Parts: sequence; C-alpha cells; structure tokens
Amino acid sequence: MKNIWKEREKALENQYIYKQEQDKIERMQKEERERLVREMCRNRCPKCGDEIKAMTFRGVPLDRCPGCGGVWLGPNDLRILASKDHRSWFEKWFKEENETSEKVA
Ligand SMILES: [Zn+2]
Repeated sequence: MKNIWKEREKALENQYIYKQEQDKIERMQKEERERLVREMCRNRCPKCGDEIKAMTFRGVPLDRCPGCGGVWLGPNDLRILASKDHRSWFEKWFKEENETSEKVA
C-alpha cells in the first residue's frame, strides 16, 4: 500500500517548486522586456521616436529632436540657462517655482 502522506508531501513540494520557477520566469521576462524597452528608446524622442541629436545652446548641452523640434535638458541645464538669461521667462518661472516649493516645504 502506498503512503498517501508521502505522496501528498511530494505533490506539495512539486507544487511549491513549480510556483517558484514560474515566478522566476515571470521576473526574468519582465526584466528582459524592461531592458529591451530601455535599449530601443535610448536616444529616441519620446514624442515622435526620431533619433535625438546633441547640440549646444548658449554653452549648455541639450538634446534636440530633428523630427518634431522637441528639446531635452539635463537636471541642472534649465537652471544654468536661466542664470545666463536674466529677465527672461526662465528666471520668472524658476522664481515662482522656488516660492511655491518653499511654501510647501
Ligand atoms: Zn520628436
């Protein structure tokens, strides 16, 4: 006679291992999808998909899309541009943004 408890234990063990493997496969597929998306979108315009080109505007390096004219700035580039161009909408905008963030903080 078979030991049904041993069989049940083995079945549960197999079920556990199967679930672990499924989770691992899902994680790997998700990571691979993410890697592919990043790889394919690198240096591409998020609006039209054209390849963006590096350029310099008033000494600040920018990325510009030849397709739609979109411009991308690094985290500090807009601030640098604003400091170079006083009395512009940049300065006004940043001043308002700082005042707003100070009130929130
Ligand atoms: Zn574009």
